[in-house]
Amino acid sequence: MTVLWKRVVVKLSGEALMGATSHGLDQGTLERIAADLAAGASAGVEIAVVVGGGNFFRGIQGADKGIDRARADSIGMLATVMNALALEHAIEKAGHSARALSAIPMPYVCQPYSRQAALNHLGKGRVTVLAGGTGNPFFTTDTGAVLRAAELSADAVMKATQVDGVYSADPKKDPAAVRYDHLTHDDAISKNLAIMDTAAFALARENHIPIIVFSIAEANAISSALQGKGRSTIVAP
Ligand code: UDP
Repeated sequence: MTVLWKRVVVKLSGEALMGATSHGLDQGTLERIAADLAAGASAGVEIAVVVGGGNFFRGIQGADKGIDRARADSIGMLATVMNALALEHAIEKAGHSARALSAIPMPYVCQPYSRQAALNHLGKGRVTVLAGGTGNPFFTTDTGAVLRAAELSADAVMKATQVDGVYSADPKKDPAAVRYDHLTHDDAISKNLAIMDTAAFALARENHIPIIVFSIAEANAISSALQGKGRSTIVAP
């Protein structure tokens, strides 16, 4: 496998882990994604995975029901820890070493996140699964992914989604939606493209971090994207 990048941050939403189910984790999907990540890491790419939590809980859902936003976001961040532990196990089961690190320190279940710890694991070839997003409420794991990419000097953020790139509108709802091959960060912000939040795009723009948006639905989606194969949208300066 000839890969384009030396070190990447893969962003996996909670939704990506629930497969065809409506909530929680789908074992088959978890195993498929874990094997894909293991293949990419075996090809020599240093992979940090930032996991979302939307398959269990998003802060905004709690806020809508009257929980104060900061507390609701804490619940959301805890949801990402569950996904990270499940993914860590699945990657190890797929035969590759993995370590979960949490931005919300929880030493009984995994190592607290620090830049040094993450770099150490990456340097040893371990798939490093980053839980807890940024560790702060009012952010998303998309912003967390770009933040970690900046901190860890990653070459790119690989944003796995349900569609094969960035569209002018939701292609599942609007048949006239146009797909982009390339965009600048400025385009993504000014066109208000909902694939990532503005904070994530702005941080990526400031730090010149390319974002590769691709579909996780295909077999071997991550290893293909690491080789520059398959359909994707490249958001780059
Ligand atoms: N969250 C947070 N700070 C962060 C990252 C996440 O408070 O830095 C909370 C927030 O409530 C968010 C939830 O965790 O809704 C799950 O993350 P996200 O919505 O990004 O997950 P995804 O949509 O990728 O599954």
